Amino acid sequence: MKDAETPAKIRCDACPVMCFIADGKSGACDRYANHAGELVRLDPLTIIEGTDQKLVPFLKDSAPDEWDGNIVKGDRPFVTAVGAGTTYPDYKPAPFIVSQDIDGVDMVTVVTEGIFSYCGVKVKIDTDRHIGHERDVVYADGEPIGHVMTSEYGSKMLSLGGVEHLTGGSKKEGRVTCDALLRLCNREAVEVTIGEEDHRTQVIIQAGKAPIINGVEEKLMRVGCGSATIGMFAKQWLGHADDVVVVDDHITGVLSEHEAGKQLEMPPTGIKIKGRRSTPGRYFQVADPGTGWGGTNIEDPLTILGPFNPKIARQGMRLLMVSTTGEQFSYYELDADLVPQPAPMPHALKVSTDIIAENCEPSICSVLFMGGAGGSLRAGVTENPVRLTRSVKDALTHVSCGGAAAYVWPGGGITVMVDVLDMPTGSFGYVPTPALVAPIEFSLRVSDYKTLGGHMSEIRPVADVSEEPLRKVTLDRHKHNPMARENYRWSKDAPS
Ligand code: SF4
Repeated sequence: MKDAETPAKIRCDACPVMCFIADGKSGACDRYANHAGELVRLDPLTIIEGTDQKLVPFLKDSAPDEWDGNIVKGDRPFVTAVGAGTTYPDYKPAPFIVSQDIDGVDMVTVVTEGIFSYCGVKVKIDTDRHIGHERDVVYADGEPIGHVMTSEYGSKMLSLGGVEHLTGGSKKEGRVTCDALLRLCNREAVEVTIGEEDHRTQVIIQAGKAPIINGVEEKLMRVGCGSATIGMFAKQWLGHADDVVVVDDHITGVLSEHEAGKQLEMPPTGIKIKGRRSTPGRYFQVADPGTGWGGTNIEDPLTILGPFNPKIARQGMRLLMVSTTGEQFSYYELDADLVPQPAPMPHALKVSTDIIAENCEPSICSVLFMGGAGGSLRAGVTENPVRLTRSVKDALTHVSCGGAAAYVWPGGGITVMVDVLDMPTGSFGYVPTPALVAPIEFSLRVSDYKTLGGHMSEIRPVADVSEEPLRKVTLDRHKHNPMARENYRWSKDAPS
């Protein structure tokens, strides 16, 4: 028989899981708890202070210096959705719809933590090293969570998550995918395995940190492809080497044949490169991809050379071979049989390889959250969701995620992408459906909000936001300001 003193469980209705939570306990996602019968959001609401816009004082009886302890102290607060909570079902108004006067314009920000079943991350890993073939599967904890996509200049790219992995596979696949996305978005390290048994690579990814590939921390991203490196540094080699080969998995460059060498009037050397010649001095596929020189699988660069042409080459010719990061280099001189023999490298060439390395940027991992603000999430903003989409496209509504600039993809819907390093720490949560919980804010003029059918009766002045706990973060003035007028089309249309 139930003890009459036992407090009743309460139901959390912030997501479809609908947890029943006992007093003193938290729900399945650890975001909500039962505190003496009251459902509370455990993480603090996050406010960004120090935006460039002035806030009209709202505590009329207090001098600004006396403002204390909450957002009214900050002169230019922006209420982010981090810690704001979610609503479910979404036709309910968003948890915070706050207004403030910014430079004489009545603005409103609609703040909610969206539940994103359709979401994922794009990971950019600055490295030449081979981490997997395009379309190779990326695994975490033995479960497929994404794949390798098209490489970009000097970087490998992964596409992780998405609805297919969150909901389309086994229960474990969904759970592991959600966990990996959550940790990546919250700037934690995640170890993944890429490829199958015969070509498997371990990579540790963490936003803002160097990737660790098969246990080795990457240092530099390439200065350019082999051909670009020849173009950049050809002049420095003139007079110090008869030929230079920049070894690169994609485009290996050969100075004497390259246009840069021709313009410097460098004579042919009779060098022969194994690989597919594209244009003069530019070779593809000199080796297989790997973790060796320039993202190839070679450790000895001479393996990409064929025999020198005896009609052109001569004993004593000087040859520099270098990788696209300048981290690997070797210097040779041809012997009487026209075979390159290692020789002490001239100082000028060592200086040059150091300059290549100096021009390489540090290798880091970038994690971009990508999600779609679906029809239902938009209903928390307006009773007529498509109008919000149109308003965003018309640049009347500005979208931010935790105050960070969100790139809104062209085409239909509100599909956003944001660098997690621009967002406050701990911005992301999850629900066990599984889905990621991410902050999203829509800011616009009150008049535009009314036009698109916003929940006008739910608007409250920012001064009335007095949540506890409250976390304040400072706006980085070099970064995006979600309150800036230039975010809106009307500021550009206005006569100056
Ligand atoms: S999983 Fe979290 S948000 Fe969903 S009902 Fe449970 S406590 Fe509430």
